[in-house]
Amino acid sequence: MSSNEKTFQRTLVTSALPYANGNVHIGQICGAYLPADVYVRYKRLTGTPILYVCGSDEYGVPITLKALKEGITPREVIDRYHAANSAAFADFGISFDIYGRTSWPIHTETTQTFFLNLFRKGHIEKQTMQLWYSEQSKRFLPDRYVKGTCPKCGYEEATGDECENCGAQYATQELIAPRANIPGDSSTPVLKQTVHWFLRLQDFADRLRAWLDSHPEWRANVRGIAYSWVNDLRPRCITRDTDWGVPIPLDDPDARDKRLYVWFDNAIGYVTNTRQWGIDRYGDPHAWEMWWKSPDTRLIHFMGKDNVPFHTILFPAYCMAQDGFILADNVIGNEYLNVLNRETGRAEKGSKSKGNMVSLRWILDRFHPDAIRYYLCSIMPETKDAAFDWDEFMNRYNGELCDVVGNFIHRSLTMTVKNFEGRVPSPGTMDEMDEAVLGELSGQIDGVGEALEQFRIRQALERFVDIGRKANQYFDARKPWATRKNDVGRTATTLYVCCQVVRALCTTMAPFVPAGAERLADMIGVVLPKGSPEGGPDGWNEAKQPLPAGSPLKMPEVLFPKLDKDYVISQAEQHAQGA
Ligand SMILES: [Zn+2]
Repeated sequence: MSSNEKTFQRTLVTSALPYANGNVHIGQICGAYLPADVYVRYKRLTGTPILYVCGSDEYGVPITLKALKEGITPREVIDRYHAANSAAFADFGISFDIYGRTSWPIHTETTQTFFLNLFRKGHIEKQTMQLWYSEQSKRFLPDRYVKGTCPKCGYEEATGDECENCGAQYATQELIAPRANIPGDSSTPVLKQTVHWFLRLQDFADRLRAWLDSHPEWRANVRGIAYSWVNDLRPRCITRDTDWGVPIPLDDPDARDKRLYVWFDNAIGYVTNTRQWGIDRYGDPHAWEMWWKSPDTRLIHFMGKDNVPFHTILFPAYCMAQDGFILADNVIGNEYLNVLNRETGRAEKGSKSKGNMVSLRWILDRFHPDAIRYYLCSIMPETKDAAFDWDEFMNRYNGELCDVVGNFIHRSLTMTVKNFEGRVPSPGTMDEMDEAVLGELSGQIDGVGEALEQFRIRQALERFVDIGRKANQYFDARKPWATRKNDVGRTATTLYVCCQVVRALCTTMAPFVPAGAERLADMIGVVLPKGSPEGGPDGWNEAKQPLPAGSPLKMPEVLFPKLDKDYVISQAEQHAQGA
């Protein structure tokens, strides 16, 4: 049943688990984390019981390869990047309720339970297959352990079963001119027979299609990807030749040197981390069940579009074979964030080899999180790809958040504090123009909220800035800087109205730029509810209540300091030079 027909009691939000083999970059931030965080912060403000789970994805070939290349252990790799990404997310204001780890023993247990339920119901079968084997290293070469030429596009750096260049997926034996991709071993591998376990996805085709059919409200890009998969389901290999992963819970000698594939256990991390959260918060090992097994829970997944098949096909199929699990009510897949090359003026796909990806840590070390969050929300790749552009970053942040919203707040509060003894003035008789501004506020607040309910972050942000734009027009038309000399009553009414708009801006900015909202709330004596998984007061609608005359105000400080052009350009150049 879709959300349009049903009222839920609580909301569970997930962001795709990033690999702990490198620093998260702003492309990932736009896909899975910032849109989810904006949505979650908004829902917390409304008082909805909401839980936001994420964590590091710590198994799989990307981790072991990184360890081999650096001459350290996989454990050292994941400890380093779990800590680094966890800190970067926190500094950026991504407000997870838990940021867990798939290397936790509780995750092994959760994953093995998922596997065994699928196995016992006959959805997992053992198959014989041919895989690339290095005689030199005496081992099979899963995924990125082998490179070669893409059978679809001819790209020479394609990996085991997928091509980074054209996105094709293929059987590993189709790879042309294969070579081992291990430090010290680039030998030509041979095909060798082995066995692996396959998930019979076709068993779930009818149920998956019925579920997808029940959600016509989902984004077109997500539905397109999901239907292209559901019409062509076949057994998919869920184990790999590696010792770094969740052990296969079967008493079978073939299982000994293999592990469950990271694509199998990744999304199960959401369940693991909810279990751990319930234990941490209540000491209750069953608290998680209300979030995953109650039809009153609304489950929403956020991710970049490359992760859509896992959230619309694979993970839902696993859940269908478990005991009473709910399925997602919405799957929000975002398009890609490219990077504008300042020399060529063209948008490029961000890639590690080009060195053009901006890591979250790098940009956080140079710019305030609110400035980054504002700009990324304004270009969020919701329906088509977007490009990060340093000039646009500066122009939009300076021209909109600073000049429109920040400036209105600053001049309104400064003039009020100076002329009315630091308090919201008592209004005199309102005229049509005053009534119009106050009368629109409630609808404007609703407008931002409605866009967020539909996961339209860009539109919500535009509506928020528009509140500031209209308020500036009112301020300019009323000229309180002139009326204060000879008409105190008129000035009091004007600034009373302005204070009400400031109050609305404070709440509506909070999902996008939470640090600025907190400082503004402190200046005007408003408390923004923090919300919680248990729910809380409705601070969003509370913003429609006027700040009473006489409420104390603090002398404002600049909420959003402008970015200096020379500074931005120098940082952009440093980044281009690989600093
Ligand atoms: Zn290709």
